[in-house]
Amino acid sequence: MPRKLTIFAIFAFEIALIVFMVAWSAWAQSNQIKFNVIAPPSCLNNTGEQVQFKTVSNTGAKGAAGMAKRDENGILLVYRFDYELSPHSLQHFIDFHECAHHQTGDIGLPHPPQNSPEHMMNESIADCIASMRIRDELINGKEIIAAAILELTKAMDAAGFPTLTTQSRISNITHCIQKDTSAEIFVDGVLKHRGLK
Ligand SMILES: [Zn+2]
Repeated sequence: MPRKLTIFAIFAFEIALIVFMVAWSAWAQSNQIKFNVIAPPSCLNNTGEQVQFKTVSNTGAKGAAGMAKRDENGILLVYRFDYELSPHSLQHFIDFHECAHHQTGDIGLPHPPQNSPEHMMNESIADCIASMRIRDELINGKEIIAAAILELTKAMDAAGFPTLTTQSRISNITHCIQKDTSAEIFVDGVLKHRGLK
């Protein structure tokens, strides 16, 4: 009998714990700090087509994320997922990063395998263009990049990326903003290298 009671007690405790966790995560989600969503930047792809930005909220994510694609109707898009959950610096960075995938023609080319060297190269190029555009097109651009780097580091740590991956991403961004060239010239070089110009 005492054994049964112990088991019952443990079981009851676990149920209480589960109920608490569910309630707590719902509370944490509803109490998450919300930010205004910024106006998107201008964005054209490599052939001069207009890119549209589409804000999507409440996907259940913990922070802002983006995606660049051409939809089934042929419209060029940047999806802005849960932007209200992240500060403006990161919203700017994601907007410009996703736009860069359109600017460099990534969207028209076959998607390289996830985490392949080609994929990582496309991501580094998009980060580089985003950083240069923030530096040159936004007021206090350098401060915005510094803030975005902090937010990216937090987000990548939370998502479980290895420290080395985060560090190499940050070092690429830091290197790019020191380049004495504009995003436009950089994009031009990428397009020529790819035979798209
Ligand atoms: Zn990307």
